[in-house]
Amino acid sequence: MTTKLLEKESVKLRCPHCKKDIDSAWVCKIESFIGTRYAFMCNYCQKLLGISANKDYTLLKSYTQSQASA
Ligand SMILES: [Zn+2]
Repeated sequence: MTTKLLEKESVKLRCPHCKKDIDSAWVCKIESFIGTRYAFMCNYCQKLLGISANKDYTLLKSYTQSQASA
């Protein structure tokens, strides 16, 4: 059983999917058996930007950059 909660967070990221510079993202709080995780989704295309153990988008930066250059 997971609990999902959608919130809007201010971010400064470039979406690797739609290539837009986004200033807000949807954050989905997921309570799972491995602990709380936060899934960040693009405000425009609603694709997954990354998952973090903390509600801190800066931790996603390396993830999105490595994805974009891959
Ligand atoms: Zn996007």
